[in-house]
Amino acid sequence: MQYAEVIVDIASDKLDKPFTYLVPEELRGQVKPGCRVKIPFRSRTIMGYVVGLAERTDLAPEIIRPIEGLVTGEETADSRLVALAAWMARTYGSTTIRALKTVLPVRKKVKSVEKRQVFLRDRQEAEAYAAFCQKRHYAAKERVLRFLLDQGEAVDEGVLKKETNVPLSVLTSLKKEGMIGIDVSEEYRRVVWNAKKYPPEELSEEQERAVETIRGEWSGTGGGRPVLLEGVTGSGKTLVYMELIADALARGQQAIVLIPEIALTYQTVLRFVARFGDRVSFLHSRLSEGEKYDQMRAARAGDISIMVGPRSALFTPFPHLGLIIIDEEHETSYHSEQMPRYYAQETAIERASLEDAHVLLGSATPSVRSMRKARLGVYLLVKMAHRYADARLPETEIVDMKAEMKKGNRSILSDRLKEEIGDRLAKREQILLFLNRRGYTGCVTCRSCGKVIKCPHCDVSLVRHRDGRLICHYCGFEMDDVDVCPDCGSREIGGLTVGTEQVEDLLKKEFPGVRVLRMDADTTRGKGGHERIVKSFAAGEADILLGTQMIVKGHDFHNVTLVGVLLADLSLNEADYRSGERTYQLLAQAVGRAGRGAKPGCAIIQTYRPDNYAVLFGARQNYTSFYEAEISFRNVLGYPPVGSMLAVLGSSEDEKLLKTGMQYLKKYVGRIDPKGTLHAIGPAPQSVGKVKDRYRMVMYLSHTDEKQLILAREYLEKYISVNPGYAHITIEFDQNL
Ligand code: ADP
Ligand code: ZN
Ligand code: ZN
Repeated sequence: MQYAEVIVDIASDKLDKPFTYLVPEELRGQVKPGCRVKIPFRSRTIMGYVVGLAERTDLAPEIIRPIEGLVTGEETADSRLVALAAWMARTYGSTTIRALKTVLPVRKKVKSVEKRQVFLRDRQEAEAYAAFCQKRHYAAKERVLRFLLDQGEAVDEGVLKKETNVPLSVLTSLKKEGMIGIDVSEEYRRVVWNAKKYPPEELSEEQERAVETIRGEWSGTGGGRPVLLEGVTGSGKTLVYMELIADALARGQQAIVLIPEIALTYQTVLRFVARFGDRVSFLHSRLSEGEKYDQMRAARAGDISIMVGPRSALFTPFPHLGLIIIDEEHETSYHSEQMPRYYAQETAIERASLEDAHVLLGSATPSVRSMRKARLGVYLLVKMAHRYADARLPETEIVDMKAEMKKGNRSILSDRLKEEIGDRLAKREQILLFLNRRGYTGCVTCRSCGKVIKCPHCDVSLVRHRDGRLICHYCGFEMDDVDVCPDCGSREIGGLTVGTEQVEDLLKKEFPGVRVLRMDADTTRGKGGHERIVKSFAAGEADILLGTQMIVKGHDFHNVTLVGVLLADLSLNEADYRSGERTYQLLAQAVGRAGRGAKPGCAIIQTYRPDNYAVLFGARQNYTSFYEAEISFRNVLGYPPVGSMLAVLGSSEDEKLLKTGMQYLKKYVGRIDPKGTLHAIGPAPQSVGKVKDRYRMVMYLSHTDEKQLILAREYLEKYISVNPGYAHITIEFDQNL
């Protein structure tokens, strides 16, 4: 027997639960997730979408009714998105309903804006009827007809009612009598950007070559692989994207461009609008539900052809999707933090394969995961190694902060950096200062020698907990806090305490009269805070822009000739095996901010670990060397993407219950995997061990074969659902590692 899970109304506010139907013998093999089917529902026959198939059901057989038939005809965008949701539910371990809610724009009860135009069906008949009404003293009807005859064209219903002062019933009866017609169309709440359209810029030779290579890959038989475009900062990746989008439009197809929310600035928007005018639309988190829904409707109706937006724009229901571009593909914002915890790159590739579309991933600093796929030939790698117009990459200089300390300079600004800042201020050029605060919480560092206390088993930093213990978040290893550096004996060991405010004060003391703009979580709070600071700095209202990670992304400041990185290695201390990758990305992106205009730039990188490969290669923007070093590290320790990992995240208000529960899960893993091929690490507290009074723990499972992990997850889910003890513990699975 085969059963199908069917959703009855996919657009309703609270997507109801799927119903189970029997797949009749003759439809076996044809009924798949995404199919539209006719089903008996109460006493009617209605349409539904198949969201899953099963060989078994817990329901009594006599209450299950069979599917009546398959609705054939053209596949809709919706049915393909339903199929995508079914894939997401399987791959990321979520319920089908949650996946559907993520993928399908939910029909919110927003007032849709309707446009109603009233017109005369026949002028002659209308004149005759007006005369008749006059005789009979049907004054209201007569006024309406005369008004329309006068206007000579269709009139907005609201305007007509006001001008002739008639109630709606008059129009309704005139319509019934066949005198007038009413044209109803829907008006979209469009996000309109006014920009002049410009002819496309001419491609540089390197850009041209990239475009041709990609076209070649995609025009062959078999569809062509996803492409990873590795282009240094300033190489002009956006222009390559636009050429390929233009190709898709020329074929009558549509395109989706994903960019990190933070990079969705006015600058970006203008570039797209200048090229594609009102064929392009934008999604961002500040749109209202109604605006979002209307954007999706406009896309479905073919009124727009390009959707630019963050992660969720991936689910734009275009009828003939041709291309999905993911810019800055290494960004962590492409991992969803909510159920289903999907990974946008992977999901884009799945969607593209369902719809015969292409995928292009672009970055100056590709994720290790994507680069590995490119090296294995799963993706095609295309490189652009030069900045546009031969703008030079900035000169970089690494300053060893241990040496500064020895010299007696205990300030967070090295002598070299102070010198260069003074020089730029004198020349009236601008400066970006980046205070790396990633990995700031919890790790223990020596201020004299830069030593970080690490787990002896996992090569990640230990995290200091409030009870004074240092704990590894991977394996649970614990030790006492230290007050003397085990390497150099210095007492200057502990958590680091520097914030942007302190640095601002220091700058003002060192350089009296300097104008500093601060950009961090505090100053960008509220609507448009981020944008305001960027605009003000671009307008030259400050000499120095000082900030956290958010200043390194996407901005093009043409007068910036110096970039200073205050604590390059801080992000290496994150209790996470990806800390090297993040550090490399932050540094390469930060360095890439200098010298984007006509004047050459320079970057100064202050660090305690000048010989660390991520720092060294990040400073030089040498991605290839970084990648080689990083992947061999992951190889040795079996970390992804070489091995696969599954994180089992648990949380509960009761710490003891949580600990026992997680321990039981670990034992259960041993039972379902008697040969011990699954490697379990933990359970240990999560990096943030308690949130809103809920304790949080994590256990990692690793295996070289991802399928084994998916299987293990299914077993664990069953185990949790049948063991009442877990009612107070919630377990989630995070595969986005
Ligand atoms: P990336 O995204 O690779 O860092 P951008 O696409 O932002 O680079 O391009 C960097 C700068 O160079 C932008 O100001 C862009 O307008 C300019 N640029 C790139 N290619 C061209 C071109 N072919 N013609 C004119 N300007 C270009
Ligand atoms: Zn030390
Ligand atoms: Zn460990």
